[in-house]
Amino acid sequence: MRSISIFGATGSIGEQTVDLLLRAGGAGTHRVVALTGGRNLARLAEMARLLRAEIAVCADPRDLRELRERLAGSGVEAAAGPEALLEAADRPADWVMSAIVGAAGLAPGFRALRHGGTLALANKESLVTAGPLLMAEAARQRARILPVDSEHSAIFQALVGEDIAAVERIILTASGGALRDWPIERLAAATVAEALAHPNWTMGHRITIDSASMFNKALEVIETREFFGVAPEQIEVIIHPESLIHSMVGYRDGAIMAHMGAPDMRHSIGYALNWPERAPLPVARLDLARIGQLTFRAPDLQRYPALRLAREVMARRGLAGAAFNAAKEVALDHFLAGGIGFMDMGCVVEAVLEVLDPELGRENDRMTLEDVQAVDHLARQRAGEIVRRQAGER
Ligand code: NDP
Repeated sequence: MRSISIFGATGSIGEQTVDLLLRAGGAGTHRVVALTGGRNLARLAEMARLLRAEIAVCADPRDLRELRERLAGSGVEAAAGPEALLEAADRPADWVMSAIVGAAGLAPGFRALRHGGTLALANKESLVTAGPLLMAEAARQRARILPVDSEHSAIFQALVGEDIAAVERIILTASGGALRDWPIERLAAATVAEALAHPNWTMGHRITIDSASMFNKALEVIETREFFGVAPEQIEVIIHPESLIHSMVGYRDGAIMAHMGAPDMRHSIGYALNWPERAPLPVARLDLARIGQLTFRAPDLQRYPALRLAREVMARRGLAGAAFNAAKEVALDHFLAGGIGFMDMGCVVEAVLEVLDPELGRENDRMTLEDVQAVDHLARQRAGEIVRRQAGER
């Protein structure tokens, strides 16, 4: 029986992974080792009981008592806090889903590679902040990383049986987010609710805002560079409002392999879960005649400064990805809290990259997890200072 752990089980990706597991027979067909959550203790305990997990871990040590109470009599162990998350990652599992949101997802995923099993990677921040480290660790431990982000799953699938040396370009598709048709001068005043109204995908709040600002696509561009090892200039972004082509690979003979499907994350989660087989999945089938047409347009870099910043991060490499991601997370927190405007997020991230420039030159092969965490910490501090300064100036 295959053993499975899910980090970030209570989130959007985690829930969909649990849904697929339950449809596949749940505890009857899989041995569930660890399930982890953040604050949603009720759902974490409910899932852990349902899947008969060995251990359930929540993020905050102050919640341990409540989690224990919720699991009383179930036989599921309870633990809490960042150390407990790492200990859960130390428990061997054949397949581990990394779906904690943000930089907090890096260390548990990195640790889980030690078992040499499969890491299904939804947490894109891991590759953005520590791509060279993560890929080297996977190679050293003979572990396999399978992409879960729909774009990277699409690229992975379009590469099956092909030689990466024959790849000319990778074309990432982007929906353009909730505000894609707004006049550019209105964007500065966009509210959280407006940025959350994603036209095609239902996702966690943070990634939905990142989709509207295209910080999400910026992270994915860097993720593509790190995961597939292609040069930055081989990576293109195109807006495809229908979100039916999830990404494309262009080969040197001019052929383009596109991956299509309904916008449902259970496709790429299920692909990673069943790989290398294709198992039936409960996703809608496309009716192409009804869809009629697919449209594309080039992204405007004025509207989406995040795409320009991603290029700068790739040019710097080293620890620039960690600074970029941390600054983005802080800027997003402030936008969500109403402290800064929608377009201010890009300004904050750009200012942090400029201020930290001298600190970011570490070579990729000398980078450690501690370096990444130190730059993450520093970038958060600087981003906080920059936001406060901006607020003072207003
Ligand atoms: P959600 O916000 O829906 O869920 C995040 C999960 O992480 C929850 O289980 C949450 O717990 C937990 N969590 C939050 N903070 C911490 C912390 N500090 N320590 C431990 N656990 C924590 O996110 P998504 O599922 O949308 O995204 C997860 C990852 O997958 C992200 O990296 C995202 O970029 C990526 N991704 C998501 C896609 C999507 O469609 N949603 C598509 C492609 C990639 P709780 O809810 O209990 O507080």
